[in-house]
Amino acid sequence: MDANYHTHTSRCGHATGGDEQYVRAAIDAGFKILGFSDHVPYEGIHAPYDRMDYDQIDNYLASINNLKEKYQDKIKILSGFEVEFYPQYIDYYKYLLTRCDYLVLGQHNVTYLKDDLDCYASDDDVEKFAEALVQAMESGLFSYIAHPDYFMMGRRHWNETCIAAAHKISKKAAELKYPLELNLNGIRHGHKPYKAGLAYVYPYRPFWEIVAQYDTICVYGYDAHHPTTLLEDDRIITINKIIHGIPLNIVENYRF
Ligand SMILES: [Zn+2]
Ligand SMILES: [Zn+2]
Repeated sequence: MDANYHTHTSRCGHATGGDEQYVRAAIDAGFKILGFSDHVPYEGIHAPYDRMDYDQIDNYLASINNLKEKYQDKIKILSGFEVEFYPQYIDYYKYLLTRCDYLVLGQHNVTYLKDDLDCYASDDDVEKFAEALVQAMESGLFSYIAHPDYFMMGRRHWNETCIAAAHKISKKAAELKYPLELNLNGIRHGHKPYKAGLAYVYPYRPFWEIVAQYDTICVYGYDAHHPTTLLEDDRIITINKIIHGIPLNIVENYRF
């Protein structure tokens, strides 16, 4: 893979490293494209361990734009945000797109900044999650769907609701040609005891068995919260073991 579109910065409060260190690590790793997609801020929301403050947008984009220029001979740098889809914020997302290169959809909850699905995801939450992804794809505002199987972090059972959600997401992604991300950072949580046996939270194999039934595009994403993550290509080997034998259409050198 020569492009990573899912990279954070220390501004979110749970990532470390300087912006330039991410760039240098990416060059070291042989990437041709590095996309920064830090967690989007919302006006009036101060969540120092989740996301930057709204008034840090200028500093964030200025820093990325500066690196874009400084390293233009070595690597193509893109600026972006990782955004949850809340319909009431569509105008805000459109505004952000006037200032950055792209938006990643990273749906971490289904209620505005509440009840993170990594803590708990009921059947109802899973249905809402799938609906949010479909609406986001239909909005045309996003370039990339991060961890579409994220909800498996907040539950321990894969059931009919999950199957239906996977079909709904895959069908729409295939129809609108949205790349679905095989997230390379979920494995950091280790194995969890699912009803069907121990497994990483995501990528969750049964989800990707359904993705493969549609004409979908899959991409790897480091979801880097530390510069050295970009150097850990053994993560791909681990993920490939999880999805071994599933006929996924993985595009290693994906371009928007
Ligand atoms: Zn994060
Ligand atoms: Zn992320």
